Amino acid sequence: MNIQHHLMDETLMAYAAGDLDQATSYLVATHLALCPTCRASADLADDIGGGLIEDVEPVVMDSVSFGNVLERLDAPGSTAELPRAAHVGDNPILPEPLRSIVGGDVDAIKWRRIGPGVHQMRFDDIDGTSSIRLLKIAAGSSVLEHGHNGEELTMVLTGGFDDGDQSFTRGDIEIADQDTVHQPVAMQGEDCICLAMTTGPLKFFDIFGKVAQPFFRI
Ligand SMILES: [Zn+2]
Repeated sequence: MNIQHHLMDETLMAYAAGDLDQATSYLVATHLALCPTCRASADLADDIGGGLIEDVEPVVMDSVSFGNVLERLDAPGSTAELPRAAHVGDNPILPEPLRSIVGGDVDAIKWRRIGPGVHQMRFDDIDGTSSIRLLKIAAGSSVLEHGHNGEELTMVLTGGFDDGDQSFTRGDIEIADQDTVHQPVAMQGEDCICLAMTTGPLKFFDIFGKVAQPFFRI
């Protein structure tokens, strides 16, 4: 696994500070289970936050750039230690905490068809206004072209998708916002399963999407 698309530093800082809503926290925790790079950043954010609370003067906050600290960590000779990888048993596709939320691995997912080649499992017991769902896009199929009334974070769990000139495979995060209109297409050869968090409803442009939207709460 070679994760190319990561969470933003601001998201990891907010996660470390406990400022994210439940849906986003689930997605972040799931990415951290697979991504040592972001785990190191989240740990650092934790340390910075803890240090500030303990005894560092507030002015230090302004002078500590998270990006600069990360550069130092990457510097040759850095002894920064990565946390141990989470134990994932017999090669499951769903890492924790997602596996516990679903109640098992991919076999336990209760899919509901929402369109040609596309299924979802929505998590309804989530606090806050953001929503989170698992999506399965059949190999070679695409979701409908859509825009966003908010932020959308999508993390690939298996297979992959192409979106414009970018490709996303296991562990990768795609970040979309109000300015993004896109139509991800699952790669050939394997169904793509991903975890998607949205802070607002999607915007559809064709009649099928507009009709389906209220039924599937997408
Ligand atoms: Zn990452």
